[in-house]
Amino acid sequence: MHERVAIITGSSRGIGRATALVFARTGYRVVVNYNHNREQAEQVLQEIEALGSNGILLGADVSKAQEARDLIEKSVKEFGRVDVLVNNAGINHDQLMLRIQDEEWERVINTNLSSAFYCSRAAVKHMFKKRFGRIINISSVVGISGNAGQTHYSAAKSGLLGLTLSIAQEYGNRGITANAVAPGFIESDMTASLSPEQRQQILSGIAVGRLGKPEDVAALVLFLASDEAAYINGQVIRVDGGMRGI
Ligand code: NAP
Repeated sequence: MHERVAIITGSSRGIGRATALVFARTGYRVVVNYNHNREQAEQVLQEIEALGSNGILLGADVSKAQEARDLIEKSVKEFGRVDVLVNNAGINHDQLMLRIQDEEWERVINTNLSSAFYCSRAAVKHMFKKRFGRIINISSVVGISGNAGQTHYSAAKSGLLGLTLSIAQEYGNRGITANAVAPGFIESDMTASLSPEQRQQILSGIAVGRLGKPEDVAALVLFLASDEAAYINGQVIRVDGGMRGI
């Protein structure tokens, strides 16, 4: 894998961080992207280097078209190619629909969904030339089921599924696959604010009896990026420990 390059959006923390590390451990060169948390992203880069791998740090707010495009172009300028794009950057903002302001709607849609379109459009151009590419979009189980209090977040995560399926159709015959991963409840800053009661209720619906770890998601992303996954295209795969009711 020493030639291959993986760009992981939002890899300063959580699932993105775990994904960046598992790719580095496998020998990929990794682009660590952050928005606000440069310090944490620097630590991820240090861990990558400690593994004997090669990485770079690129700050970019991928919800903005120009910054997303620059992220891909700077990565290609540095490494000469992009083989894997993991559209992981995301935010949630739980609120009942009647209370969601226009700005919050746009921020959640742009961060979770438009970012993946901007980055994929820029990356596919380069993957095209190599006739190889892997686009992996981090959706959510609520993108499949919907969820009260998450209309904007669920809509964005459902939108990612349509984006994934369409990219899979457009570029499958060029060696480029697109798949979506739908995590359930994963231990990260995003789920840290769950109350003990919410946590207990969620746990009671998870067959394996625990919340997921970022590494549980990263393991699937790594496999979907591999040569062995060449015939898996346009799929949505849940990583949720066997959840009921969502
Ligand atoms: P997290 O710990 O809150 O981390 C979010 C990451 O996204 C951070 O690295 C953050 O960067 C980055 N990010 C946010 N907005 C960005 C932007 N505009 N541009 C670039 N990077 C941005 O979240 P997580 O739990 O790891 O979630 C990762 C992905 O999995 C998200 O798409 C999330 O929706 C999805 N997911 C999570 C769960 C879960 O239970 N945790 C379940 C289903 C799906 P900075 O820190 O630098 O701002």
